[in-house]
Amino acid sequence: MTHPVRLAINGASGRMGRALLELLREDRRFELAHAVVAPDSPDDGQLVAPLTASNLRYAHSWSAAPVVDVVIDFSSPAALSAALDHCLQHRVALVSGTTGVDAVLEDRLTDAGHHMAILRAANFSLGVALLTRLLRDAAAALPAWDLEIVEAHHGRKQDAPSGTALALGRAAADARQTTLEATAVYSREGQTGERADGSIGFAVVRGGDIVGEHTAMLIGSGERLELSHRATDRSIFARGALQAAGWLAGQKAGQWQLEDVIAAPR
Ligand code: NAD
Repeated sequence: MTHPVRLAINGASGRMGRALLELLREDRRFELAHAVVAPDSPDDGQLVAPLTASNLRYAHSWSAAPVVDVVIDFSSPAALSAALDHCLQHRVALVSGTTGVDAVLEDRLTDAGHHMAILRAANFSLGVALLTRLLRDAAAALPAWDLEIVEAHHGRKQDAPSGTALALGRAAADARQTTLEATAVYSREGQTGERADGSIGFAVVRGGDIVGEHTAMLIGSGERLELSHRATDRSIFARGALQAAGWLAGQKAGQWQLEDVIAAPR
């Protein structure tokens, strides 16, 4: 696209929405045209300052939305559902990072790929997308090597292993023509017995302010390969979503992955 990509942000006053607005301040590839917040948000109706020379105000609906090329969504499942209605009706591309989506909405999102371009990811880090691809290759190329995935996060994290660690395990299992359900070992304590061939082990570290670290260890006999990613700043997710939005603008209908974005020639 030669003109700036016209964007709408769904969930614009949330943590991710604010991170996106911050990046957009400096980024001339994009033009923000609509910013949606929850109806009870104190931001509703306020100026999207200091970003806008254009007097753009936060809105709580899509009814008066101008024409845009891409909607970026980091909100809630209900808000994503409303954004999806808008995107389907106007054939607008959708980049979404919202998690916690139920099976009904999951089905609608899958079906939407027949009508519009849609790209979803549980982790918008471009580095993690590349790590996933490298791990898939390594797991297939070294099928007999033991695979262990170690992840570390801050102490406030509620779930373990992280969704990203599970997605890495799933990609590796898939590359070895098996499933995570059949191979995962989530804890070891006491008399565990020997390691089962072909299993995928997970280990979890929690503490301090660690943003997110993932290491996949492929352990052979006399040698070991480690593929690691360390996030040091949450803005990487916003950066990845913006890159995805720039790439998705003008793509044909379909379900796209972050890996497609990093595979694309620059
Ligand atoms: P947040 O709670 O800070 O922000 C949520 C935003 O959604 C707010 O602006 C709120 O006003 C808006 N919202 C809520 N209900 C709404 C409604 N009914 N209509 C319109 N807007 C509504 O959350 P966050 O940390 O920004 O995360 C948002 C989502 O993105 C979560 O699902 C989170 O898990 C996910 N997330 C994904 C990634 C990734 O890389 N994929 C990274 C971070 C967060």
